[in-house]
Amino acid sequence: MRILSGIQPTGDKHLGNYIGAIRHYVSNQDLGEAFYFIADLHALTLLPDPADLRESTLKTAAMLLAAGVDPERATLFVQSHVASEHTQLTWVLQCVARMGELNRMTQFKDKSDGKGDSVSVGIYTYPVLQAADVVAYDADSVPVGADQKQHLELVRNLAQRFNNRYGAEGEEILKVPEPLIAEVGGRVMDLQDPTRKMSTSNGSEKGTVWMLDESDTIVKKFKSAVTDSEAEVRYDPAQKPGVSNLLELLHIVSGRSIAELEAEHDHGRYGDFKVAVGEAVAAHMTPIRERYHELMDDRAELERILGSSADRAREVASATLARVVAKVGLLEAPERAATN
Ligand code: ATP
Ligand code: MG
Repeated sequence: MRILSGIQPTGDKHLGNYIGAIRHYVSNQDLGEAFYFIADLHALTLLPDPADLRESTLKTAAMLLAAGVDPERATLFVQSHVASEHTQLTWVLQCVARMGELNRMTQFKDKSDGKGDSVSVGIYTYPVLQAADVVAYDADSVPVGADQKQHLELVRNLAQRFNNRYGAEGEEILKVPEPLIAEVGGRVMDLQDPTRKMSTSNGSEKGTVWMLDESDTIVKKFKSAVTDSEAEVRYDPAQKPGVSNLLELLHIVSGRSIAELEAEHDHGRYGDFKVAVGEAVAAHMTPIRERYHELMDDRAELERILGSSADRAREVASATLARVVAKVGLLEAPERAATN
């Protein structure tokens, strides 16, 4: 089975990104052959500062490696290193896609809200680039959160429509991917407002734990986590969102069951419980943070890893592109003529 995931190289990553996404990059390596990419072409839709984009791309790659993505098992590459294949496939799929279906994408509606005709075309066609990202690698399975389900449905529709137009009866020129729905739970809430998810753009600074926070900062943020006026450590997300968020986090980083953790902390005070969670999270994140800094201090090694992965990615994507070129009736490009 082949799995594909992309991650945007924008900004610093928080504990929610780690628990909800990055952690699964690591465990999904066991499910099959993984292709993971840093989606710098997607990030361009927001016209980020060029130096920031370059830096964030390397940082995001280092973060995935530090978290446990193993370049011997997974192909971890930068999307723009395979830009030629991704963008050519995007063009073909844009010819298959319909304005009506792109108009219906709720993320486009959200992002273009109030912008009228001045919204970027890149934001509009972004889901088609996503479709190209997926079909380029013949991915069987794409892990998606709730916010990406609609886009994966579009990928499936475009691949099927392409196959119907250009393939023989039942022929799958482009692989039609299945969504891999993430397990329920694992949604990390803001420590200061446990009714809202921890978030990059809408979070509170004190309530957001960054993956690169030092241990004492992490413990401090947990110490001031908002809970409730009872004094009972009990899992009840509706009535006790703060305590439940802490229990879930402790469960994930310690591997111990919620029931066991409830029993252990039942007699303590919230203060002790919050410190215990903070220390467990800090202990879990410390080796990741240390490995991250090592990688960022050795750019040559980081670039070597990304370089050999890019070769592997290009090999697969260019085979898909060659198949598509032949099927749609484009002439194979002639070899470049020798200049001397
Ligand atoms: P923004 O607030 O700007 O939307 P974000 O913090 O939600 O940013 P994204 O880049 O939108 O970050 O999401 C990256 C990945 O992290 C996605 O897979 C998303 O589902 C996951 N994720 C984001 N926030 C959380 C959270 N609080 N708990 C669990 N998973 C999360
Ligand atoms: Mg988000």
